[in-house]
Amino acid sequence: KPILYWLRRDLRLSDNPALDWAAEQGRPVIPVFLHDEVTEDWGAAPRWRVGLGLAAHADALESLGSRLILRRGEALATLRALIAETGADTVVWNRLYVANERARDEGVEAGLTDDGVTVKTFQSHVLFEPWKVQTGAGSYYKVYTPFWKAVRDRDPGPPISAPSELPAPSDWPETETLAEWKLGHDMRRGIDVVARYAHVGEETAQARLATFIEEKLEDYARARDMLAEDGTSGLSENLTYGEISARACWAAGQRAMQEGRSGAETFLREIVWRDFAHHLAWHTPRLTTSNWRKEWDAFPWQGDNEKAEAWRRGCTGLDVVDAAMREIYVTGRMHNRARMLVASYLTKHLMTHWRVGCDWFGDVLIDWDPANNAMGWQWAAGSGPDASPFFRIFNPETQARKFDPKGRYRDRWLESEEFYEAVPEGWHMTKGADRPDTPIVGLKEGREAALDAYRQRGDG
Ligand code: FAD
Repeated sequence: KPILYWLRRDLRLSDNPALDWAAEQGRPVIPVFLHDEVTEDWGAAPRWRVGLGLAAHADALESLGSRLILRRGEALATLRALIAETGADTVVWNRLYVANERARDEGVEAGLTDDGVTVKTFQSHVLFEPWKVQTGAGSYYKVYTPFWKAVRDRDPGPPISAPSELPAPSDWPETETLAEWKLGHDMRRGIDVVARYAHVGEETAQARLATFIEEKLEDYARARDMLAEDGTSGLSENLTYGEISARACWAAGQRAMQEGRSGAETFLREIVWRDFAHHLAWHTPRLTTSNWRKEWDAFPWQGDNEKAEAWRRGCTGLDVVDAAMREIYVTGRMHNRARMLVASYLTKHLMTHWRVGCDWFGDVLIDWDPANNAMGWQWAAGSGPDASPFFRIFNPETQARKFDPKGRYRDRWLESEEFYEAVPEGWHMTKGADRPDTPIVGLKEGREAALDAYRQRGDG
């Protein structure tokens, strides 16, 4: 009887335990991706980007003599229908950890098990599963550095190689098509522009990792903070859809460590930040939806507002903030330091709830990762565990002097023709005439208002 292999955030052949197990059973394997209740909720850019990943991965599966079956609908019902059509008696997948994905998976597992179907799930999306990293007191970690110390000497095992073939069923079930799904439908911005910046698929991801280790690692610890430098791996886009595994990144980083290469430990630490975000998301599911520290529920952050709209359009009047907001719109990505700056400006100077920014990132990032994004926003806002204290308010101009000393990042994105190519017509943007001459909220005035609100909160 066939095995259904349910793909989710694991669009790769190598280091894929669920696929590997299925391939070894000597039975037909049917790979299936569902556009289900979870992916329906994704923002425009992640939905569009997963479509690119699926197209590339379908080709990779065909090279093994297999196919990718696409179905749209609620996960449990759709899998049940596929089981009825194909006679499959086993469903396998790699586990995920964020609240909505986890709730879906638990429901599917319970439903299929009730039906008498065998369900097997595997670890693959993170280096160390959230419940396997515990403090001395048997709890979970809320602070990064002790988490790092607890895992840095652990061995997640070597990445496993791709199966050499994937037994096909005698009859393939019908598949829907990506064209029917219209995954780019809600991208109000110029898809052609963003597409120039997408690096799609497993081979591309592996090449990116190799180039990064070979050419950028040595200078990574310094260059990763510099706004105008291309000093990082760029792998977040691939990691979020599983076009490469965290374990493959870890193994490459460890090899470089053993060779005594500088930058290697910094890279391993960053990969572990991703694990930490998933650790937090699993242990405290509210991470992605509400203030991690509940005392922030009473803070007078505003909901969506006109100033937040100016922020989204890169029209706050602050050069580095506007440059960054234009970078994200054009490329679907933003430099890490810029993410911290724009998040701080929105949640402090503009006194707008971090969820407004978190949602915007979820709509426009092609490397959107629900755990990393929420952790980053709660860190910047001060409402998260291990967060930057609220009263430590970034001054975007000081930051720009330090991390963009020649203003190259500012000029690159403020002057970007591609931004005007990408924006929807309804935004009515005119180059040179759409940004205010003075910031919509001045740095000093915004800082003071934010600190006042913080003090009134009672413990400032
Ligand atoms: P590199 O510097 O090459 O790092 C390698 C990998 O380590 C990254 O690909 C990523 O998987 C992981 N990593 C690095 N920094 C972090 C971090 N601070 N937190 C968690 N993991 C990290 N990252 C996302 O992947 N998706 C998001 O949606 C996202 N939203 C963010 C929102 C805010 C407000 C902030 C402050 C950060 C956010 N990050 C997010 C984290 C970080 O900005 C990106 O992971 C990083 O910029 C990706 O570039 P890179 O792959 O070149 O990173």
